[in-house]
Amino acid sequence: MFKKVLIANRGEIALRVLRACKELGIGTVTVHSTADADAMHVRLADQSVCIGPPPSQDSYLNIHEILAACEITGADAIHPGYGFLSENAKFADILEAHNITFIGPSADHIRIMGDKIEAKKTAIKLGIPVVPGSEGEITSEDDAKRIGAEIGYPVIIKAASGGGGRGMKVANNESEITNAFHTARSEAGSAFGDSSVYIEKYLGKPRHIEVQVFGDGKGGGVHLGERDCSLQRRHQKIWEEATSPVIDDAARKKIGNICAKAVQGLGYSGAGTVEFLYEDGEFYFIEMNTRLQVEHPVTEMITRIDLVNEQLHVASGAGLSVTQDEITFTGHAIECRINAENPDTFVPCPGTISHFHVPGGLAVRVDSGVYQGYKIPPYYDSLIGKLIVHGRDRAECLMRLRRALDEFVVDGIETTLPLFRDLVSNEDMQTGEYNIHWLEKYLEEKNRAR
Ligand code: ADP
Repeated sequence: MFKKVLIANRGEIALRVLRACKELGIGTVTVHSTADADAMHVRLADQSVCIGPPPSQDSYLNIHEILAACEITGADAIHPGYGFLSENAKFADILEAHNITFIGPSADHIRIMGDKIEAKKTAIKLGIPVVPGSEGEITSEDDAKRIGAEIGYPVIIKAASGGGGRGMKVANNESEITNAFHTARSEAGSAFGDSSVYIEKYLGKPRHIEVQVFGDGKGGGVHLGERDCSLQRRHQKIWEEATSPVIDDAARKKIGNICAKAVQGLGYSGAGTVEFLYEDGEFYFIEMNTRLQVEHPVTEMITRIDLVNEQLHVASGAGLSVTQDEITFTGHAIECRINAENPDTFVPCPGTISHFHVPGGLAVRVDSGVYQGYKIPPYYDSLIGKLIVHGRDRAECLMRLRRALDEFVVDGIETTLPLFRDLVSNEDMQTGEYNIHWLEKYLEEKNRAR
């Protein structure tokens, strides 16, 4: 096992990794910008190194400074968390050249999955069901129209290098292709420096369902069931659950085994998430994330497996600590992302937290990097914490979640807590009948009713 791990991240995820390291007796180093000198990830680590000024480009994304911090402290591995450098293949290459272990998959796997066209081709080869569409890049309007006629409208034109829901345009019929094609290409070019796009069928009312996978890097691999992340705003997840309200044991086993086989076939190493849209009983691959996800705790709650501990084991060469047969699913878990944002407009609201009280009690978990008196800097993501609740079944989980949300106090700034208090009592949320467009419609109606 590693002697000392450097955590190249901040906020709740830096703490999450720190905790797993401490439990394993591994020394911890964190890095921070000047804006984060008072942050919890700095206070709780054995050592912390200041790597630059507030902008991420100059600190959390500054590879030179992070490498220097590694060298100064003698860390033998780096955990990237999520976001920042977690899916940066060049970073993984550089670490390898410096004999520092990157706690994640190989640079090649990051590269393949970072290009959505390559990822889709790879998925097809591995027997994963995909959304019908072009086999690769489309380079002209005529290409788009030809494929549109084949697969039927509506269609969506997406950036090969896309991320965060950007560079996607829907065309409802052939006359909308010209606009969609050119807008998607120019958005992709300016946002990602790569204007290649592809086309696929636009699904009208899908759920977003993703499968957690783990590979040992030697041809072994398992799945840890699915998460339902259909509650989204502008393609951003805010509420996630495991298991999905619409997936039964047989469907879980079937899609899980397809994903586990794919991971084995790739020789993949570490944690990954295979994301699907799910409609009318069918799964359609959209992408694979080659890192730990924000919503990983719901999987931990129903499997009782510490995913970061598993990442550390695999990266150190010790392999996976569990076999597929040993992975079982108990009860139901829901996560709410508590953001420092206005709950109606989602405009970020940094500032000082004047009062902070987290809920407790049976099966309630709060992953957060903030504390009372903490001043949230305006430079980073607005996620300040995650409330995760487990119950023997979905009904019990919802009851417990309602109680926990009532107990949660964050004063001095605006947060998304009031939105979750409304959602937990909503009828569609109670029955689990929602898809990826549900939240946007709900918010529109709420604003209209004002
Ligand atoms: P990103 O990497 O930008 O998050 P994804 O390919 O994962 O892009 O898609 C993000 C979201 O966009 C999905 O969760 C879904 O809401 C929507 N989306 C993507 N592809 C389709 C499609 N073919 N049909 C309908 N919605 C889609």
